[in-house]
Amino acid sequence: MYAFTPSAEQEALRQEIVDFATAHLNGGEELRDREQEFSREWWVAAGRIGLPGLCIPEAYGGRGLDPLSTLLALEALGYSCRDNGLNFALSAHLLACAAPLWLFGSEGLKKAYLPGLCRGELVAANAMTEPSSGSDAFRMQTVAVEKGDAFRISGSKSFVSNGPVADGVLLYAATDPARGFLGGISAFWLDRRLHEYKAGEPLRKMGLRSCPLSELFFDNMLVDSSFLVGRTGRGAMIFNRSMEWERACLGGCHLGNMQRLLEMATQLVRDQLAGGIPRHERQSASFALADMQARLESVRLLAYSAAWKMGEGKNVTREAAMAKLAVSELYKKLTLEIATLFGAAGLAPGEVERSQRDAVSSTIYSGASEMQKSIIAQTMGL
Ligand SMILES: Cc1cc2nc3c(=O)[nH]c(=O)nc-3n(C[C@H](O)[C@H](O)[C@H](O)COP(=O)(O)OP(=O)(O)OC[C@H]3O[C@@H](n4cnc5c(N)ncnc54)[C@H](O)[C@@H]3O)c2cc1C
Repeated sequence: MYAFTPSAEQEALRQEIVDFATAHLNGGEELRDREQEFSREWWVAAGRIGLPGLCIPEAYGGRGLDPLSTLLALEALGYSCRDNGLNFALSAHLLACAAPLWLFGSEGLKKAYLPGLCRGELVAANAMTEPSSGSDAFRMQTVAVEKGDAFRISGSKSFVSNGPVADGVLLYAATDPARGFLGGISAFWLDRRLHEYKAGEPLRKMGLRSCPLSELFFDNMLVDSSFLVGRTGRGAMIFNRSMEWERACLGGCHLGNMQRLLEMATQLVRDQLAGGIPRHERQSASFALADMQARLESVRLLAYSAAWKMGEGKNVTREAAMAKLAVSELYKKLTLEIATLFGAAGLAPGEVERSQRDAVSSTIYSGASEMQKSIIAQTMGL
């Protein structure tokens, strides 16, 4: 059954996050964006209300939220925390690292790492993309060769969010390159203190600049078999599940950011009307805002329905891809349209300008828009 009204618990969760983020997760984002600086202090603060572990069971230190409540929580965060880089870093950590570790990791790994990951003591990164494999991620060159009770891993990963600051890494490597996607990829948990890999310098990028991104290098790195996540050869399935979580829930941050910007632009036009500008002279802006509100509401419902269905334990391959495609494409367009309403002021350094830059990469990470269309087409038998 569908319910379009949030429960009392979901309302309370939203209010808790809005109140906390407004008070404790704002300030200095302009500087961090300029300096490309990650803030451990803000990360630890986010841990105080369990943001890094929203959907992880309470037994492992998380908040035990279902996927829809996780999406609503991230939407509240995106609405009230102006640092989109921090919001993205937290979401990637939760959905592409902590969630698959919880779903597929051994009890030993879960007990050792999930509490720290949930409480903001540890930062995690997910390492899949390589210099020569992005959209075709399973054609990776990084290999893990089994030797007794351990693996030797060699290769490199690129565009790893949180890479330079991560305490733990969910790494995908080919254990049987000839089999590739069909049982040839395995997932490993790396502990920065135990495993000898190198992180490159943070890469410069146009948006999400407070979430550091880097390459990771592995040179014959020894990893004990106890650090396998899931069984050997299950990596592709684990990665796909983690991407479903990311596609279904990460857009919450974008929905929240869009809603806040829309409210700012609405206030701008209201102020102009209150200042004496005749209504008919602002009709095009009013219509533009009305249109944006309607488009935002439609993609929001698509995202809610994907996350709800995921919580019902149903297959959401198509729904998660549709939600990701719709939210990210709208995010890119709407941030630009809103900036236009602000005129030249929309280009000055600040929230409106920054959000345009932050939005651009949303149609690339978690699979580019063309890959989402490819997934949807496959589910249509095409
Ligand atoms: C901000 C950001 C954060 C990221 N974080 C991480 C991370 O934490 N971990 C990680 O492993 N990776 C991460 N990535 C990498 C991301 O997953 C890849 O950038 C993405 O998969 C696309 O790969 P690519 O950049 O190599 O582009 P390519 O695969 O080369 O694609 C380039 C263009 O070609 C199109 N294209 C490619 N193949 C096809 C096809 N078969 N059909 C139609 N069109 C196609 C794409 O849609 C795209 O527009 C991140 C990227 C960004 C931008």
